[in-house]
Amino acid sequence: MKYISTRGHLGQAAKPEFCDILLGGLAPDGGLYLPEHYPQVTRAELDAWRSLSYAELAFEILSRFITDIPADELRAICNKTYTAEVYRHARAGEKASDITPVHWLEEGRLGLLELSNGPTLAFKDMAMQLLGNLFEYVLEKRAETINILGATSGDTGSAAEYAMRGKHGVRVFMLSPHGKMSAFQRAQMYSLQDDNIFNIAVTGMFDDAQDIVKAVSNDHAFKAEYKIGAVNSINWARVAAQIVYYFKGYFAATRSNDEQIAFSVPSGNFGNICAGHIARQMGLPVARLILATNENDVLDEFFRSGVYRPRKAAETHVTSSPSMDISKASNFERFVFDLVGRDPKKVAALWAEVDAGRAFDLSGSAEFARIADFGFVSGASSHADRIATIRKVYERYGVMVDTHTADGLKVAWQCRDEVPATVPILVLETAQAVKFSETIVEALGREPERPAEMEGMEKLPQRVEVMAPDVDLVKRFISAHV
Ligand SMILES: *Cc1c(COP(=O)(O)O)cnc(C)c1O
Repeated sequence: MKYISTRGHLGQAAKPEFCDILLGGLAPDGGLYLPEHYPQVTRAELDAWRSLSYAELAFEILSRFITDIPADELRAICNKTYTAEVYRHARAGEKASDITPVHWLEEGRLGLLELSNGPTLAFKDMAMQLLGNLFEYVLEKRAETINILGATSGDTGSAAEYAMRGKHGVRVFMLSPHGKMSAFQRAQMYSLQDDNIFNIAVTGMFDDAQDIVKAVSNDHAFKAEYKIGAVNSINWARVAAQIVYYFKGYFAATRSNDEQIAFSVPSGNFGNICAGHIARQMGLPVARLILATNENDVLDEFFRSGVYRPRKAAETHVTSSPSMDISKASNFERFVFDLVGRDPKKVAALWAEVDAGRAFDLSGSAEFARIADFGFVSGASSHADRIATIRKVYERYGVMVDTHTADGLKVAWQCRDEVPATVPILVLETAQAVKFSETIVEALGREPERPAEMEGMEKLPQRVEVMAPDVDLVKRFISAHV
């Protein structure tokens, strides 16, 4: 499989393969990588995949996108990544060996697809654990090292650090917005004492941190000298890894491949639901992709109106579902590429606006007229909605959900009538309640339970460097620590 850029300036001869783009971030032309085409899944394949374990299914799907790692070795990487030991935090009554079990709230109609049973209790582990093993494999093959530079509003950073800690040839420099994450998230990241993990808290918003990462990555000389790589949500391998659980969830929630399914996805940077879009393009029978935002509703606004209006940092709300607090959605360009008929010139023109801080408007265009073909519906949720939803789900079903999953549930209920009554709706459970206990206490008046191994984590010593949001300061810190 060859890869192309959404902005199309790679040139004919130079199309990379998976391992070539694994360690990088943006394409050299500023676009995002996508496979040259989406592999199509036949009915016979779907039938054969229905009974596979998560690791086996991951191999079948990923081998369509990763053709430059020998099959046996890719299979071994999948088997090592998706184990009941790594994804051991399943809800009582669910099997950890399912990796992403479905927990029904209403049998056959409304369920949670548990994606947050990994080491950091958030869905980013699903992709990041694979990435850690892929990085190790490719770096060892090439006798190379890498310095990962990333920005996180919470879950990406901890998932990356837990995936990369102690890995040979890898250092992680992770920028986070100072004082904007939950106490649990801070403890999870900053308490890591591994020599190859560096936490930098910038005194700004997540987008300031993300802009620094982009600026450093655009400094090609620095990037080459310090072997800078990325694992933030634009990384193609992460999107690819996330495709797998849409298939797994479909098989778990349906009895035959004649049935359809809907997914409700708590969304921020559009990485998770982008994988759902790709699964659907591959032929998975997805009736609806329900996109849920919090108060930062830039994506909901687009799907309702055709206007994509990235917000200024100052317009970005700090909410109780902080991992969705974004002002622009970094993976959205991948979807728009498909929406405009995979025309890189159109994407480049639209993102010339976005990169200049302006909106673009597709309302009334032939492209936006086709939006229904992609199956999306959307909605937004507020703090009051989250509190009400967490209460309702606890009282009605005896189940505790986190704030992001609550956004997904709220919007799923809101969009329920757009999904035929016979079609199951799976809400992607993107984190466990314990990560956002302040809001759980506000909603339920009690602390969520936490895994015994994480008791007292906030009291552990923390390793973090506080810094102004300044590109040169960050560069200096990196050069002093490699
Ligand atoms: C990252 C994250 C999201 C948003 O996912 P995107 O891929 O950025 O859309 C939602 N919930 C949680 C808990 C997250 O960590």
